[in-house]
This record gives sequence, structure tokens and C-alpha cells, in this order.
Amino acid sequence: PFSSSHSHHNSHHHNHHQFTIFDKIIKKEIPAQIVYEDDKCLAFKDVSPQAPVHILLIPKVKDGLTQLQKAEERHKDILGHLMLKVAEIAQQNNLQEGYRVVINDGKLGCQSVYHLHLHILGGTQMGWPPG
Ligand code: IMP
Repeated sequence: PFSSSHSHHNSHHHNHHQFTIFDKIIKKEIPAQIVYEDDKCLAFKDVSPQAPVHILLIPKVKDGLTQLQKAEERHKDILGHLMLKVAEIAQQNNLQEGYRVVINDGKLGCQSVYHLHLHILGGTQMGWPPG
């Protein structure tokens, strides 16, 4: 049943070109604890929080932005928008004393969902180095 050339594709790589669970969250097909939303981006609570506050901020339109290393000139506006929204979302979640923003990129960066996302982590003293 898997005799086509596609069977030779590395599934890790193949996943980068598919829809992810974040598309279902954007379409409200699965529930999420949304903390911020506008026409360009969505922020929601991470289902497996790694800090007392753990929010994911994602572009609503992926446009090839599976991961940060795929960023191109055409993504400048959405990348700037995401960066500018971090402080607003942090403030709304009582993170004024500080927080961590993380983008995991690729296998060695421990990326698991291939739809660009910023982790906003806080609510406690963060450690460094992050490991
Ligand atoms: P990554 O490992 O940097 O790619 O981050 C993906 C994040 O998405 C992880 O922290 C997961 O816990 C989180 N995640 C995966 N599925 C869901 C979901 O359905 N709702 C909320 N967060 C999710």
C-alpha cells in the first residue's frame, strides 16, 4: 500500500509541509484557552505548561513559516507583529516582572509543532542556561 515514491520521504521532514494541530485551534475545531486574538495572530495556553504561565503565540496564516529558519522577507510584517504583541500579552497575564520568550527551531531545538510559535513563559524565576 505504500509503494509510491512518497514512502521514501522522511516523515519528520514531511510533517513540515502539512497542517498541524495549530490549524485546528485557529479554526476553533479543537478547544484552546485563548488569551489574545486579532486578525493576524492567536495566543493560547500551552496544553503542557512548562511554567506557571505558558502561552503560545502563533500567526494565523502560516505562509510557509513552519519554523523560524524558513523566515523570508515576505514574513517581516507578521514577525514584527508577533514580537510587538508579546509585551501586551505578557502584561495582560501579570508578567510585568519578567518572562522568557522562546522559539524552538528544528530537531535540535526540540521543535515539535511545525507552525511558527513563540513560547511566552513566566510566573516564576526562570533559569539560565535553558538546557
Ligand atoms: P515546540 O516543542 O516548541 O514545537 O512547542 C509546541 C508546543 O505546543 C508544546 O509546548 C506543546 O505542549 C504545545 N501543544 C501541542 N498541542 C497543543 C494543543 O493542542 N494545545 C495547546 N498546546 C499544544
